[in-house]
Amino acid sequence: MKQFHNFINGEFVATSKTFENRAPADNHVIGLVHEAGQAEVDAAVKAARAAMNGEWGKMSVVKRVELLNAVADEINNRFDEFLAAELADTGKPHSLASHIDIPRGAANFKIFADIIKNAPTESFQMTTPDGGTAISYGVRVPLGVVAVVCPWNLPLLLMTWKVGPALACGNAVIVKPSEETPATATLLGEVMNKVGIPKGVYNVVHGFGPNSAGEFLTKHPDVDGITFTGETRTGEAIMAAAAKGVRPVSFELGGKNAAVVFADADFDKAIAGVTRSVFENCGQVCLGTERVYVQRPIFDKFVKALKEKAEALKIGPSDMPGVGMGPLISAEHKEKVLSYYQKAKAEGANVVTGGGTPTMEGKYAEGHYVQPTIWTGLPETSPIIREEIFGPCCHIAPFDTEEEAIALANDTPYGLATSIWTTDISVATRMANAIHVGLCWINSWFLRDLRTPFGGSKGSGIGREGGVHSLEFYTDLRNVMIKI
Ligand code: NAD
Repeated sequence: MKQFHNFINGEFVATSKTFENRAPADNHVIGLVHEAGQAEVDAAVKAARAAMNGEWGKMSVVKRVELLNAVADEINNRFDEFLAAELADTGKPHSLASHIDIPRGAANFKIFADIIKNAPTESFQMTTPDGGTAISYGVRVPLGVVAVVCPWNLPLLLMTWKVGPALACGNAVIVKPSEETPATATLLGEVMNKVGIPKGVYNVVHGFGPNSAGEFLTKHPDVDGITFTGETRTGEAIMAAAAKGVRPVSFELGGKNAAVVFADADFDKAIAGVTRSVFENCGQVCLGTERVYVQRPIFDKFVKALKEKAEALKIGPSDMPGVGMGPLISAEHKEKVLSYYQKAKAEGANVVTGGGTPTMEGKYAEGHYVQPTIWTGLPETSPIIREEIFGPCCHIAPFDTEEEAIALANDTPYGLATSIWTTDISVATRMANAIHVGLCWINSWFLRDLRTPFGGSKGSGIGREGGVHSLEFYTDLRNVMIKI
């Protein structure tokens, strides 16, 4: 049986308490995960602190950059192993993980290696009251020991999105991967050793949130900062833990994102884009669309076309030819998504398509598959429209005016992302200014330039990561003033 060990101070560490890691595609047991207790979390934090006080803390940026490039190269050398691990843990289509999860996971080390090499700081010269001169300049110093708490939907990509800049900036990290997807974070430990990242710089502790590795790590007094991606309510618990010691947090949280489609949009492109934003990764993308607002003249045509796209999606395991949608991550998450499917019916939604589970053959009958689902006809107050479901589903509602679309899109406690579909650039840019989100796509979705800021407004997060914005969290900016 495969074992997923903790990775502490450059060594794989077993514990006496294990839990099963199951494959969402068919529910088979992939392996046993060794849950870290307080002792292992203490050891990981101690190793990270020792790394900061040792060779790593003194290493030149040039050498660090060399090592991070080697990490990226080694992930690419072992591409197939990372891919197989991610596919087993998530069940997502092969085409998705091989084009996005693994290559972007590797790229996160390269891009932040480049950024840290070229990041300037500011400097000022001034005349002092005695007629002399003073020069101030900024120095970026690492934040220190950073806890990285991760979700399961894009395990390697979202983890390296934080570990890449954290290490580029000279920090040491303790990663707590999701209990659902422990594999690629563990495999990355082997890569770190192979390329010569000093011991203690990259650590992994496995387990759950409350009363487990997640809570032990985020409450640890020797952790200098916490970067987290996951649900908004988990963010609230972590923020409370971080308050003790006034430690900084960077949060990428949940969303209830709106797509707004105007009647003048390129119809086929809008349909293709919204199909992706609703159903990609079985709807388990934080940036995904669960609310679609369509201008009334094209409403019926749009609903019909999206229904056809949903019904054409081939549901199945990663390696099934032509597969368009895999399973949900776990039996528990399937139960949650199906509870919303039932709630929608109970509230009187018009079920345009889906609303249940597909019939799967053989061993896949044990997998966590659900049907892509579209509803219309619910009031904006419905939990279907207000709460993040995180499944392959959306509600479509009509609107008449631009003002109405803005009000609808903004009527949510979340503020992560939106996508606007129109050929009128004036409308598009007005919408981009008016909708309270961290990320606004115009005639596209999930298009990312890694140098740009990424994050959410309102209940969707705190801070921005990406490009030089990541440096704001992963370094402390110190001002040095010299009296000449
Ligand atoms: P989650 O909040 O349930 O878990 C995330 C991580 O937090 C896991 O590692 C979990 O073990 C840990 N955790 C849970 N409770 C904790 C606690 N009390 N203390 C410390 N750690 C704790 O989220 P999830 O279900 O893994 O991921 C899905 C969620 O993530 C969705 O809400 C989605 O929108 C969000 N998400 C956001 C972004 C973004 O960039 N904004 C990206 C991906 C996912």
